[in-house]
Formats: sequence, C-alpha cells, structure tokens
Amino acid sequence: MATRYQLAPTLKRLARVSAELSSKTSTQSSFARSARCFTTSRSRLLHQTVSVRSRQADFTSTKYPEIKRNDRFARLTEDHVAYFRGLLGSGSAVIDGVTSDSAVDDLEPFNSDWMRKYRGHCQLVLKPGSTDDVSKILKYCNENILAVVPQGGNTGLVGGSVPVFDEIVINMSRMNQIINFDEVGGTLVVDAGCILEVADQFLASKGYIFPLDLGAKGSCQIGGNLSTNAGGLRLLRYGSLHGSVLGIEAVLPDG
Ligand SMILES: Cc1cc2nc3c(=O)[nH]c(=O)nc-3n(C[C@H](O)[C@H](O)[C@H](O)COP(=O)(O)OP(=O)(O)OC[C@H]3O[C@@H](n4cnc5c(N)ncnc54)[C@H](O)[C@@H]3O)c2cc1C
Repeated sequence: MATRYQLAPTLKRLARVSAELSSKTSTQSSFARSARCFTTSRSRLLHQTVSVRSRQADFTSTKYPEIKRNDRFARLTEDHVAYFRGLLGSGSAVIDGVTSDSAVDDLEPFNSDWMRKYRGHCQLVLKPGSTDDVSKILKYCNENILAVVPQGGNTGLVGGSVPVFDEIVINMSRMNQIINFDEVGGTLVVDAGCILEVADQFLASKGYIFPLDLGAKGSCQIGGNLSTNAGGLRLLRYGSLHGSVLGIEAVLPDG
C-alpha cells in the first residue's frame, strides 16, 4: 500500500524515458536462453494462466475491509467528466462509467489486475495522448482533490496498477511512441507507454539489445518497468534497470 499511496496522488509520469543501451552484444545467445526458459515451463504456465485468469476477483475493499477510503478525496461528478471529455475528446480516450451505465464491461479490465487478485471500483479511465494532457489532468485532479492511479500494461503482480476504491485510472497506452534512437551513443528515448517488446524488437533491428526482458514483455510498458524497477531475464547481465536510465520527463502532482 505504501507504494500505491505515494503514487496514486502523484502520478510520477515517465513520459519520455531515456534508457542508455550501450551494450551492443550479440542477441543470439540471449534469445536462445529465453527460448529455453519458455519451452521447459510452457504447459504448466499455460494451465495456471487459464485457471487464474478465468476467475473474477473479489473487490479489494471487501477483501481488506480495514482499508478505508479517505473521504478527503472528492467523488466524481458529471462536471468532472465533462472537463475530461473536453480535454481528451469524446472517443475512446475516456471510458466513462460515471454518466453512463453501459461502460461497466469496458471498465472491468482496468479495475482488475493480471492475477485477478485485486479489483477496484474505478468509474473513469483516462488515456492521455501527450505530456500536456497528463499535466492538465493532474492539475485538475489536484485542484479538485480527485485520486488517481497510473496504469501501464497492468501486468504488475502486487496490485499497484489498479484502484482500490474509485480512483481515476490514468492509462498510458496511447503514449506509445519510440521518439529517438542514437545509433552512435546507444541512447533510446521512448514514451512511457511504449510496450517493452516493441522497443526490444526496434533495437534488435538496429543490432542492439534492450537491457530488460520478461514474460510480460508483450504487454508491459517502459513506464511500468521503470516504476517497478523490473528485474527479469537480463538483470544479471545488464544490472538494475534504473542504472540504464539517463533521465525521465515527469509530471508532478500539481501538473
Ligand atoms: C508473466 C509475467 C512475468 C513477469 N516477469 C517479471 C520479471 O521477470 N521481473 C519483474 O520484475 N517483474 C515481472 N513481472 C511483473 C510486471 O510485468 C513488471 O512489474 C512490469 O514492470 C510492470 O509493467 P506494467 O507496464 O505492466 O506496469 P503496471 O502493472 O501497469 O504498473 C506497475 C506500477 O507502476 C506504476 N506505473 C505504471 N506506469 C507508470 C507511469 N508511466 N508513471 C508512473 N507510474 C507508473 C503503476 O501505478 C503501478 O504502481 C511479470 C509479470 C507477468 C504477468
């Protein structure tokens, strides 16, 4: 909870992450090692995946009744939703369960974690498309005392990416671009919502390797990876992910 508590009101947005990828090594042996890991455990993992994912989680607030919603935080109203629609447009960048009952199914994937262990009551998902959007969202939430939770690929295993109560989910999936790669210096600049596997394949096409690889790479995002300082299969070879970061562009709680 401590991590969640810090992050929910602050959204340390990792909009553009500079990761130094200086080790230009042969990718062949790493890929061979990864393939071996998956092959030996495949059937058991698939079985577990099916049984875990098919069950619906209890609400976190029901499982842990001792955790209370902080009533200092405001409840969402139609006016709040209207502001966010004005900012992000009326398309899929806003999933609104506040003014509409038909969004219940659409909200469910953002309310539940990958393991189906935690489940929140979020009624509003926002998908910013730029740093400016994130800045305006946080400024507004700060002024109106609305709680938020940042969400990347939602593959985290400890419930940090999903709400407990009615926090607004700020989902980074629209900010998914590779901004720049310096082939001489080996420096990559990406949006926080860039999928790890996309960045990894991009670098492989240039003869480089991303210093992180893990089973959720097809869904997890660089922002989530850095937020959790993910370890994964290449940790022993390349060290802590934070050690590869040259800088981040972050939005502070007040926007
Ligand atoms: C099959 C599988 C294998 C895995 N293997 C590993 C492994 O080997 N090593 C390992 O360390 N983990 C592993 N994980 C856990 C998980 O994939 C990692 O923690 C991953 O880094 C989470 O990234 P994400 O984008 O899914 O983040 P999310 O789960 O969406 O979020 C994780 C945390 O980061 C915060 N966050 C996300 N994006 C931002 C942002 N832009 N700004 C600020 N905060 C943000 C969220 O609020 C949350 O607290 C695995 C998970 C699965 C399902």
